[in-house]
Amino acid sequence: MSQLFSTLFVLSLGAQRCLGHSDSRSEKVIQCLTTSNVPQALPGTPEFAKSSSPHNLRLQFTPLAIAVPSTVSHVQAAVACGREHGVKVNAKSGGHSYGSHGIGGENGHLVIDLKLLNEVVVDPCTHIATVGSGAKLGNMAIALDVQGKRSIPHGLCPKVGVGGHVLHGGWGYSTHNHGLFLDYLEEVQVVTANSSVVTASKTQNPDLFWALRGAGMSFAIATRFKFRTIPQPAEIQLFYIPFVWTLPQAKTGWRVFQDYVASKARPKEMNIRVVLSSGAWVGAEGTIFLFEGAYHGSKADYELFIQPFKDTAMALGGFADFLNYPDVTSVGYMDSLLYANNNALLYPLPDAEQLESGPDDQISWLWIVSAIGGPNSVMSTISAPNSTSYSHRSSLFLWELGDQVNATSTYPSKAGIPWVNQFVDIVERKEGKKLGMYYNYADPTIGDHGAAGRRYWPGNYERLVGLKKVWDEGGVFENPQTVGR
Ligand SMILES: Cc1cc2nc3c(=O)[nH]c(=O)nc-3n(C[C@H](O)[C@H](O)[C@H](O)COP(=O)(O)OP(=O)(O)OC[C@H]3O[C@@H](n4cnc5c(N)ncnc54)[C@H](O)[C@@H]3O)c2cc1C
Repeated sequence: MSQLFSTLFVLSLGAQRCLGHSDSRSEKVIQCLTTSNVPQALPGTPEFAKSSSPHNLRLQFTPLAIAVPSTVSHVQAAVACGREHGVKVNAKSGGHSYGSHGIGGENGHLVIDLKLLNEVVVDPCTHIATVGSGAKLGNMAIALDVQGKRSIPHGLCPKVGVGGHVLHGGWGYSTHNHGLFLDYLEEVQVVTANSSVVTASKTQNPDLFWALRGAGMSFAIATRFKFRTIPQPAEIQLFYIPFVWTLPQAKTGWRVFQDYVASKARPKEMNIRVVLSSGAWVGAEGTIFLFEGAYHGSKADYELFIQPFKDTAMALGGFADFLNYPDVTSVGYMDSLLYANNNALLYPLPDAEQLESGPDDQISWLWIVSAIGGPNSVMSTISAPNSTSYSHRSSLFLWELGDQVNATSTYPSKAGIPWVNQFVDIVERKEGKKLGMYYNYADPTIGDHGAAGRRYWPGNYERLVGLKKVWDEGGVFENPQTVGR
């Protein structure tokens, strides 16, 4: 059985920006925040425009109001204002949701922008890191480095917010040997729908803790996390092995890759993914298959353990050093962050003709297939099965399917979205079932609440619905794809 995770991160400036809400509800919420002394970004100000500007420019929404709390009591008061006036409330941490869910995923929400809650403190004895939910991954990594050369596995983009990333997974170049970001969460302080401050951990409110680790945005506003940390790896090999392959080469090469990552020949320390895109941008015909990753260990060991894959792939031809990078570089942990910016699809690359050209000359596409599972991966052992609401522990691959136009063009939704989705359809037809999706790669095209939820949290969705009724019966924390009630 296979699972495919997909996203459409289509960028366009073509969408019309809505002009702010000036209805009385907006005025009432703003008044309520003002009376409660909650700092705000007021509509019409540059700060409001900045806070409501999405990463995915195709999905622009206008919040009713934006609170910018600097204390937990501000968060409590802001949640109370939303609840009192019947306005849906969403946390925004780093604003990197592909579905623009940090700003509500639709117009008219109260956004709680957590950017001021960004402190990172490492206890020198326990090495537990206390991290504000509005911190960014890059800032957190630097603070962990400065305060004792510690680390936590997490994603590659330094501007992604800790809040959204950890509450829904968080894979990166340490996941195959150390797990997901959420596997390191020991405790979380949240503000609930009734404005209470609650601690969730394995011993305190364990059901809520289970739900927060996978589907957090549906249940509360997380304000502070406590993470277990690990020593930084001493040495990392960042590697790049690029090919431009014709369709026959690609079909065999894909099989070679998946056989390697699904075998015990790949050691735990080999974090590897493949980035696919059109060869056109390097002036070549065919599809680029850029195998890249981070090996935790020495260069000699990397060479030894990559050899079974590399030799077989090289024999197919098409090696293309278009990157002008050295194919492997030894770096320290911090440099690896700087420079690296279930189950398998265990059958031949399906009907891959569509990969040879995009849907449209103006659209460029980039697919990233990360092999985070496999027989030597810690993914299925680092946390007990079903100990969190994250549902995809047994998956070999995590796919990210995206296309984009440049920021001065209008994204042709009618051409681009069906083009990406047809790949998902082909795989699902072959599998004979719907595939799982990763909420951190939110895809608004898979439907709302229940339809989306059964894809994001397969096997766990019904339990999540039950817990939603316990913790947020009135639906204070909602976006179009939150867990239904
Ligand atoms: C450039 C880029 C690179 C990425 N790289 C990776 C990667 O390497 N690995 C990976 O796994 N993912 C990656 N992602 C996906 C990323 O993990 C998700 O988009 C993540 O949800 C972003 O979190 P955020 O806080 O920045 O976003 P936001 O838009 O602020 O939030 C995302 C969701 O989380 C909710 N949320 C945020 N903070 C809180 C909180 N404190 N309490 C409750 N709910 C909250 C929001 O309401 C929203 O639903 C990447 C995304 C981008 C755009």
